[in-house]
Amino acid sequence: MTTGARIWQVAVHSPLHQEFDYLPPTDVAPDLAVEGLRVRVPFGRGTRVGIITGTAAASRIDAKRLKRVLALIDTQPILSPDVFRLLLWAADYYHYPPGEVLIGALPAPLRRGDSVTARTRQHWRLTTAGHACVPGSLRRAPRQELLMQRLTAAPQGISAQELLADSGARAALRALHAKGRVESFELAEEDAAPSASITATLETGPALNDSQRAATTAIEAALGRFQPFLLDGVTGSGKTEVYFHAIEGALRTGRQTLLLVPEIGLTPQMVERVRRRFSVPLAVLHSGLSDGERLAAWRAAAEGRAPIVIGTRSAVFVPLERPGIIIVDEEHDASYKQQDGFRYHARDLAVVRAQYLKIPVVLGSATPALESLHNCRQDRYQHLILAMRAGTATPPEIRLVSLREQAAEHGISPVLARAIERHLASDHQVLLFLNRRGYAPTLLCHDCGWVADCSRCDAHMIYHRARHLLRCHHCNAERPVPAGCPTCGSPDLRPLGQGTEQAEEVLAERFPAAEIVRIDRDRTRRKGSLDALFQRVQEGRRQILLGTQMLTKGHHLPHVTLVGILAADQGLFGADFRAGERMGQLIVQVAGRAGRADKPGEVLIQTHHPDHPQLIALLQHDYRGFAHGLLDERRQAGFPPYGCLALLRAESVHPRAAVDFLAALRTELVESAPAGVEILGPAPPPMERRAGRHRAQLLFSSERRAPLHRTLAAAVQRLQKLPQTGKVRWSLDVDPIDEY
Ligand code: ADP
Ligand code: ZN
Ligand code: ZN
Repeated sequence: MTTGARIWQVAVHSPLHQEFDYLPPTDVAPDLAVEGLRVRVPFGRGTRVGIITGTAAASRIDAKRLKRVLALIDTQPILSPDVFRLLLWAADYYHYPPGEVLIGALPAPLRRGDSVTARTRQHWRLTTAGHACVPGSLRRAPRQELLMQRLTAAPQGISAQELLADSGARAALRALHAKGRVESFELAEEDAAPSASITATLETGPALNDSQRAATTAIEAALGRFQPFLLDGVTGSGKTEVYFHAIEGALRTGRQTLLLVPEIGLTPQMVERVRRRFSVPLAVLHSGLSDGERLAAWRAAAEGRAPIVIGTRSAVFVPLERPGIIIVDEEHDASYKQQDGFRYHARDLAVVRAQYLKIPVVLGSATPALESLHNCRQDRYQHLILAMRAGTATPPEIRLVSLREQAAEHGISPVLARAIERHLASDHQVLLFLNRRGYAPTLLCHDCGWVADCSRCDAHMIYHRARHLLRCHHCNAERPVPAGCPTCGSPDLRPLGQGTEQAEEVLAERFPAAEIVRIDRDRTRRKGSLDALFQRVQEGRRQILLGTQMLTKGHHLPHVTLVGILAADQGLFGADFRAGERMGQLIVQVAGRAGRADKPGEVLIQTHHPDHPQLIALLQHDYRGFAHGLLDERRQAGFPPYGCLALLRAESVHPRAAVDFLAALRTELVESAPAGVEILGPAPPPMERRAGRHRAQLLFSSERRAPLHRTLAAAVQRLQKLPQTGKVRWSLDVDPIDEY
């Protein structure tokens, strides 16, 4: 940084898309400004914590109006250079305020300006003289005698807080100190890291098969340079085994691994597998931690005390002292994309970060995102394929069950019912997938056709029978079930369609000998309940597991031999251009839960459209063949990964406000938009009203990224100035994973 830099540029947590200029504090040399140091600055009527992002010789703002930085908080940058750079890059790429991005990446205590160094506490212990004292020699000072006894029993010391809890202890301690029998020392608040040898492994894994070995060799050979890999392995092919060898490789060179998992629900599973295998300290980061736990894990990663760091989405921003490799498990999973506020994609950022760090990054999945397959075709990623299940497991047999020829009774066709009988009879488990919570998608008046709609959304309310209420899954509004039809008064209100709650009831009636285990968000709201359910499933037999998407993710269910997809058609006709990809991934992931151990699996897919080309493609080819077909369609349509999209969403409680707002913006933008950038809309999304707000959107598309980003930057500048801004809430989504 230049000396004599008179202006410090500071990112402050604020919705404004800019950094702010400040004068250096009076008591500090201006060239002490280093990128990444936290400062305290006056802001508005208060003060805020900011991060220095740069310096300048002069400001565009009149020097008389510039305020001074109040204080430097850090002596060392709070973020590693790669994370600092990644965050600024992401703020730019996703067009999100840099202050919110930078400050938001810090654990809460650091955001508030706390010191990053370990907090220590005063402890007391005996001195050599104290140890030499004869017990009982202080009989005339019972409080001192008691303290001596306690300290003798605790050679590692006792915290001052604990010692001084007894009344009168302070004076006694002072007296002992004066006699030279006790001394105080500082101890870090959190446990010191166990000094485990970092190459120690506990359980040894199975001997690798040829494709696993080829993958491992390729990854290990790339340690020390940037190389993205797509580890494309069918479910049960032993991808985790490959991760573990990669981690071992990194450990051998004294480097850390950052392992990203898609959601908090899958973290305990992965943590347990890693713990069984490696005896090194782990840092685990997910949204369920307290501020203190999060800070401790963050510091263990940043200071290099944790050789393995496991975390969900936001862990991609955790600094590492000695980074060696990044692994992204289930890289296709939508939960890597943040869906509100700063809408980043953690998988994509993992690749950018690995590039900065010059280290390999492994993206693993049985159903890779089309983007990742495309990157392999373009030779940007190295494609590692595990085509076969590891060990003795064989792939399941998949068949379509046409609901045209045979009607399903309460959602279950005779073919599926017979298969369920058969698998239960041989003491196996059955998994049934239905992606719809609640009892029924809605309640219908049999006399006049009234349906229960949400008053705040363009959506039906879901009938939850167990809790006897109607609930909107979009805005969470709840209301009691009416006794009669609000329109015609008829008491004949019937559930329409089927959700998991109803399916559970139907199954219990039809298969009385089986235990039904329902797994969905309504059942697993309490902390730990999901783990408990999966525990029951690990131990049980003759169970029917019934659930939503939650069941499809990564869980190892060795006793399941039959998988039934009750309603495949839900995904086939989604309006979104990713609907086909999602449906395929879902079916393959659910199917992958069948026959994972030594028992062969069977998969039945119920559909009204057995001739749907995408379903047929999925069954005729493997997932990769199916995906390549979809990629060809995307190319023809110019959709990602062959084009770039951004979505500007706006909403307002006033009916026309969002549309008018976007229309005004569009008019301003089209005049100056670079060639090749198309702006579509404003158009309402399929659900125009949600939670009482009217919504509209503009879709930006372009074959090339650069002109699109110029347009978006211009859009954001104008949006901040448009007069309606107060009434309208807007958000920009770059590379949206949902089209609406
Ligand atoms: P994936 O992550 O690809 O779904 P896992 O890594 O969970 O697969 O492996 C599935 C099962 O196969 C696990 O029980 C694992 O221990 C076992 N496994 C992995 N590799 C081998 C191998 N080379 N030989 C035998 N069993 C293996
Ligand atoms: Zn009615
Ligand atoms: Zn609603």
